[in-house]
Amino acid sequence: MIFSTPQKFIPATKGVRLASAKALWFIFKKNELLVIQKDKSEELEIPNVTDPSELGIKTGPHQFIGYYDEQPCYTAVVTGMTTEQDSFIWSGLRSLFGKLSDELFSISGRAYQIADWRRSHQYCGSCGTKNTLQDGERCLVCPSCGQLHYPRVSPAIMVMIQKDEEFLLARSPHFIPGMYSALAGFSEPGETLEETVHREVYEEVGIRIKNIRYFASQPWPFPHSLMIAFHADYESGEINIDPNEIEDANWFSVNKLPNRLPGLISISRKLIDATLDQLKRPLV
Ligand SMILES: [Zn+2]
Repeated sequence: MIFSTPQKFIPATKGVRLASAKALWFIFKKNELLVIQKDKSEELEIPNVTDPSELGIKTGPHQFIGYYDEQPCYTAVVTGMTTEQDSFIWSGLRSLFGKLSDELFSISGRAYQIADWRRSHQYCGSCGTKNTLQDGERCLVCPSCGQLHYPRVSPAIMVMIQKDEEFLLARSPHFIPGMYSALAGFSEPGETLEETVHREVYEEVGIRIKNIRYFASQPWPFPHSLMIAFHADYESGEINIDPNEIEDANWFSVNKLPNRLPGLISISRKLIDATLDQLKRPLV
């Protein structure tokens, strides 16, 4: 699964930093990651240096994120550059899909969320005191009032609703033309994920569903979602869309698909593909 933890990656919050040891550095300028293209080859690499200053890059406080293939990994945000080398490419994460290995791509997503959390939580949100890192866990603590600041993760659901041989897909106004996807929405405080699924479906398309089954999940670092995908069965009602959320919703089938489906990077595509596979399978 894209963005799931790679097998060769061991997450950790505290590494033993040896000044002379090389490490993989996931360095961000706003939401763009520094990758290096050597010798005009297609292959992109994550910088492997003892310190970003070797590349002429100044960074804010770095965060240790774990070991990849026994190599330490750090993430940091650029604060200044003394040189810009020809081999540097600053790239949004989405466009690195398929260009970095799946494992490095997943670690990049994790690195982005951690770097962004550190950058945006320098001061306590309650009293304004400068936060300090809590020893031994991924947490910032306010030395004045004790408020803890963990990295934010926002759960969101996605659901594929089936009605016999058909399934429901919808499009939001900001989708590219012709694309439809499964319904999705953020969980609200106090809700179970199942309640979120029922509420989102009813709000967006006005139908009732039953038999919710977990499918899979995917961290989605744009900026800090965790998408949890489900299958569900239609129970009652007619499609009645909420025009503030979506511009069209319809029942589709194996033989009647929308012009475009979400990209292979996304869990929505995996959910749709899994549904199509199941519908194509002969009944036994
Ligand atoms: Zn405070």
